[in-house]
Amino acid sequence: MNPNFLQTPIPYLKGVGPNRADVLRTELGIETYRDLLHLFPNRYLDRTSYYKINQLQPSGADVQIVGKIVHIKTVEQKRGKRLVATFVDETGQMELVWFRSHKWIRENLKLNEPYVVFGRIARYGSNFSMAHPEMELLSEHQKGLKIAMQPIYPSTEKLSAKGITNRVLGKMMQQLFLESKGQFPESLSKNILEELKLVSKSEALFNIHFPKNQELLAKSQFRLKFEELFFVQLQLISKKLLRKLKIKGLPFNQVGEYFNTFFQHHLPFQLTNAQKKVIKEIRTDLGSNAQMNRLLQGDVGSGKTIVALMCMLLAMDNGFQACLMAPTEILANQHYNGLKELLGNMGVKMALLTGSTKKSERTLLHNQLENGNLNILVGTHAVLEDKVQFKNLGLAIIDEQHRFGVAQRSKLWHKNELPPHILVMTATPIPRTLAMSLYGDLDISVIDELPPGRKPIKTVHRFDSNRLKVFQFIKDEIKKGRQVYMVYPLIQESEALDFKDLMDGYESISRDFPMPEYQISIVHGKMKPADKDYEMERFVKGETQIMVATTVIEVGVNVPNASVMIIESAERFGLSQLHQLRGRVGRGAEQSFCILMTGSKLSEEAKTRLQTMVQTNDGFEIAEVDLKLRGPGDLMGTQQSGLLHLKIADIVKDNQILKTARYHALQLLKEDPRLEKEENLPILYAYSKMMQNKEIWGYIS
Ligand code: ADP
Ligand code: MG
Repeated sequence: MNPNFLQTPIPYLKGVGPNRADVLRTELGIETYRDLLHLFPNRYLDRTSYYKINQLQPSGADVQIVGKIVHIKTVEQKRGKRLVATFVDETGQMELVWFRSHKWIRENLKLNEPYVVFGRIARYGSNFSMAHPEMELLSEHQKGLKIAMQPIYPSTEKLSAKGITNRVLGKMMQQLFLESKGQFPESLSKNILEELKLVSKSEALFNIHFPKNQELLAKSQFRLKFEELFFVQLQLISKKLLRKLKIKGLPFNQVGEYFNTFFQHHLPFQLTNAQKKVIKEIRTDLGSNAQMNRLLQGDVGSGKTIVALMCMLLAMDNGFQACLMAPTEILANQHYNGLKELLGNMGVKMALLTGSTKKSERTLLHNQLENGNLNILVGTHAVLEDKVQFKNLGLAIIDEQHRFGVAQRSKLWHKNELPPHILVMTATPIPRTLAMSLYGDLDISVIDELPPGRKPIKTVHRFDSNRLKVFQFIKDEIKKGRQVYMVYPLIQESEALDFKDLMDGYESISRDFPMPEYQISIVHGKMKPADKDYEMERFVKGETQIMVATTVIEVGVNVPNASVMIIESAERFGLSQLHQLRGRVGRGAEQSFCILMTGSKLSEEAKTRLQTMVQTNDGFEIAEVDLKLRGPGDLMGTQQSGLLHLKIADIVKDNQILKTARYHALQLLKEDPRLEKEENLPILYAYSKMMQNKEIWGYIS
């Protein structure tokens, strides 16, 4: 086969042509033969099984039904005509619908003859319907039945509207195999193939598209999943090795005055063992000659801030500046104030830079950064602006990293000639599985222990109908001197409505908790930063007992006296968000509570989320459930979901394969770091092809 065969532009494939090629490109991202070959079926349909109409579910699944058309009519609509056929079997009736090709269908379909129809089920009102079904006379169908396992390819509305049905995709695939004679270059080494008893690449590709039987299909899936994860791991691991070899780190050789003074005189509590362990790990990194790129995971309240501070002091001890970035202004403020308090009279020069820093202050600050008069800069995204130049930035710490995109990380990277050490802190516990594939190029530290004396937060679920009781409970807690958060959802898509909910809520709370006995703060995204801070401050100081807010308070805010978290419309929040919110309480010595308020109608998934919250406080457990419910893309936030466009493997379900792949990738790079051995040439070749085609996504670019 011509080595560039797979690079052939897709319009060259017989049966495709420019129009279809256009749709394939925009809808499925298919530009070349290779792309088409790697369009893997989502699932397979057992075309030996048939549904009855009364068994249908509005599941969006593709099904196969035997029945007859008893009636056909044209329905006029505003946006054109539609052809509707009544299709019946002995258990009921449904509709078949066509939006085009009416003439052909009217002329060719036979009334009252048994057909097998196949397509996606939808429900309109009380009727099930199937749009543009594949149809075959039962008599023909019985003669055929060549492929029992029919692949179902990803589909979009536009694809089917343009006539690129599953059947058409299958035909294209056939054509591709015809032109290539089904021969594709092997991309794994003999060793790996033999050790894992994998089927060859050509066999795997054939059976993934045209499975001969279940067993071969399973073997092919395994092989392709392994391969996909293997190359991802190969990239991640070699990147990490390269970084350690090549990227010289700024030397932090000594522990000096700042660190020691703080440790001996300013540390307000004993560090937990987990904190000590992590600081040690980081110190080892900083002392090596390589650049540190470390992810620090620790559940909310586990005490990441003090770790960050001590690392920044280390930077200063070695003559470097440090910066700490937070995703919101409130949080940056809080960090700034918290650090100031911790540092006391140590003489550390620290400044705050956020969107609302005044221009005059800013200019001064820029100067001080450049001439080295500032030791620590705390701030928001504003820190990343080009104008902000450090004299010698040695350590950059990013708090709550899931709010920052990868691009932003790489921006920090370019601030200096030599890259600063980077510490990324996250309170969204990332399941190990995911951490391995997402951050395989980072080192990971975990604070897996909460500071002593914390009482686990009690979490309950209450329906809106029990609001009075909940309010009474709040009043009792306030009487004991506690403070309360009430959080409302603010989801971008329904912002206006949500905002109204928040304001309505605020009003009714103001009625139920009247002044002067009760003081209420409110914080939301539409407020001016100064007003936000003012309200926040009042709550922090204990001047107000209730904080009504949107999720702006989700991240990091620390008010130890607040012991009750009420989450309104809790069913609308994702699990990790609920967990984050809950983490705002339980920070003091008192028993804390989290009350999840919901309406009475709950989806199954929402029920699972609520149950999980009630059952456990363990962030890692919650993250695992979340990952299962939502998939990795959502978990990490849309910014990063692009990193997870795996074609066939699933990080959650294929956890075992991932481990195997990682093991073999490590093994390979240990034995043959440059992939020079002859037996590894197929891997080298495939790998460089993938890099060329940018098939493997990059991390820090
Ligand atoms: P997070 O990991 O969520 O950022 P913080 O750093 O804000 O957590 O710490 C939460 C609270 O726990 C703070 O009030 C902090 O002062 C306190 N804290 C941190 N470490 C310890 C410790 N070792 N012992 C007691 N309290 C601690
Ligand atoms: Mg924090």
